[in-house]
Amino acid sequence: MATIYSHAVVGVGLARLYAVQPTPWAYWGLAAVLPIIPDLDVFSTAAYGGPLGHRGIAHSVLFALLLSIVTASMTFRCFHVRWWSLMALFFTITASHGLLNAMTKGGGGIPFFWPLGGRCGNWGPIPLSDIAFDLPDPRYSRAVRAELLWGWLPTIVVVGLTVLYRRLTRSERSIQ
Ligand SMILES: [Zn+2]
Repeated sequence: MATIYSHAVVGVGLARLYAVQPTPWAYWGLAAVLPIIPDLDVFSTAAYGGPLGHRGIAHSVLFALLLSIVTASMTFRCFHVRWWSLMALFFTITASHGLLNAMTKGGGGIPFFWPLGGRCGNWGPIPLSDIAFDLPDPRYSRAVRAELLWGWLPTIVVVGLTVLYRRLTRSERSIQ
C-alpha cells in the first residue's frame, strides 16, 4: 500500500477540484476517509492475494462503485449537489486508491476489474509503505519521500493551478 496519508491527500485534492462553493467539513472528512477504506482489508484474516485478503476485491472498481453509490445516497442532500455528480466524485476518490497502489513497485497486483479481469500493477515508482499509522516523516521513510514526489506534489500543483484559474476567471467576469 501507499501510506494512508497519501491516499487522503489525493482524495481531498480531487474533492477540492469538484468543490466550487463552500462545503461542510463532513464533505472533506469523507474525501479523506473514502480513499483509505479499501485498506481496511489489511485486518482481514483471509490470505494475502485472495479476493477477501489485502489488495483483494476492496481495491476493485466494483467496490469503489458500490461504496460511492451508498455514500452519495446518504449525503447528497446534505451537500446540496446532484446525486450522480457526487457519486462520480466519490467513485473517483475511492478508485484512486487502487491506482495509487498500482503505482507501487512491489506487493500484489490490483484486481481492478474483479470479477471479470485479473490483477495488474507494480508500475512503480513508489516503494511499498514502510510506515503504518506512524506520523509521516520524510527523513526516515523512503515511501513518504516517494509519495511526496509522485502523489502530493502533482496533487498540490493541479489543485493550485485550478483554484488560481477559477479565481482569475471569476475576477475577470466581475470586471466586465
Ligand atoms: Zn491498498
